[in-house]
Amino acid sequence: MPKLRCPNGHVIDLSAVPAPGEYFYRPTAGWDELVEEIVAAVRDRPADAAGPLDETVSDALAGLATYFYACGVCGSLVFPAEAPPRGYTPSTPRQQQDGDT
Ligand SMILES: [Zn+2]
Repeated sequence: MPKLRCPNGHVIDLSAVPAPGEYFYRPTAGWDELVEEIVAAVRDRPADAAGPLDETVSDALAGLATYFYACGVCGSLVFPAEAPPRGYTPSTPRQQQDGDT
């Protein structure tokens, strides 16, 4: 099962889909490319394609996404796709909430 560690050493388990604390991001400078890719995926979709249109859009988005993860314990953010991978700890620690383990 894939796992990450936040900058404070907490384990972030990536085995659930979607993983809790998983976020999608794209650089704003790539916005036009993102829109063009989605339009192309819809435009080029075979007329007899199986599955609903939202699956086509979802697949196109998934292929263009980069993900980051928020640690459920301390709120640190981990960007494993960056080179080198980066992690950021908030200057104000996350408050423990009811239901946290
Ligand atoms: Zn953490």
